[in-house]
Amino acid sequence: MKEDLLHNLEVIQNRIRQACVKCGRNPQEVQLLLATKTVSPDRIRIALENGQTLIAENKVQELKEKYEALKDTDHENHFIGHLQTNKIKDILTYKVTCIQSLDRLDLAEKLHQKLLAENKTIKVLIQVNTSNEESKFGIKPNQAVDFIRQVSKFSTLQVQGLMTIGLFSAEKEQVRQCFIILKNLQQEIIRENIPNIEMKELSMGMSGDLETAIEEGSTIVRVGTAVFGARNYPDNYYWNEKETDNQE
Ligand SMILES: *Cc1c(COP(=O)(O)O)cnc(C)c1O
Repeated sequence: MKEDLLHNLEVIQNRIRQACVKCGRNPQEVQLLLATKTVSPDRIRIALENGQTLIAENKVQELKEKYEALKDTDHENHFIGHLQTNKIKDILTYKVTCIQSLDRLDLAEKLHQKLLAENKTIKVLIQVNTSNEESKFGIKPNQAVDFIRQVSKFSTLQVQGLMTIGLFSAEKEQVRQCFIILKNLQQEIIRENIPNIEMKELSMGMSGDLETAIEEGSTIVRVGTAVFGARNYPDNYYWNEKETDNQE
């Protein structure tokens, strides 16, 4: 089991390296984030004790359950799922350093209030729905600039870039379009030169499409299945609005 996991990590790191070499990028520009939903703490620990430093959960409940078991290991915790405003305090309690899924003004506002009260700041990425699928979270591309202008007023939120989940499709070129949309949006926002807004991170690419994402400029690839194996839950348990609301 441990050998498999370490082997999978090596394979992923090679895939990242080769994708970078192919498009002339420095592999150091691309961070590997491990998406650990449904994965037990002892398996996550193996990764953390063998060079990995960045993990992320989709659900506050799982973040909470694994926090104690992993808090003695040196790592950073991001949040990549749909965040309900009544769970904001847990995000801070369990030391999430970056919320990659900021996509609503009411969430930004409440997050800001809570952070102000605790005299804290947090990194955020803006989640963009680049695949135009109704079931996916994220701000629409044509509303992103306005949204980011509004978020820029919240001094406790340190916007670092954008995040997206690409289209689920075997059609590589259609998936690529999603990543191109995110990259173009990043460039547009940089040109807008909005105070308090950084646009250095593009979190895009997962187990099945990380090479394409790297070719289009990804700086964070989020990998679950290719390291930890297939999950028992269908992904819409984590991504679909109705499913999520039923569960919490
Ligand atoms: C699960 C998940 C991933 C990882 O997906 P895999 O296909 O298992 O690599 C990446 N991003 C988000 C938001 C996820 O929920």
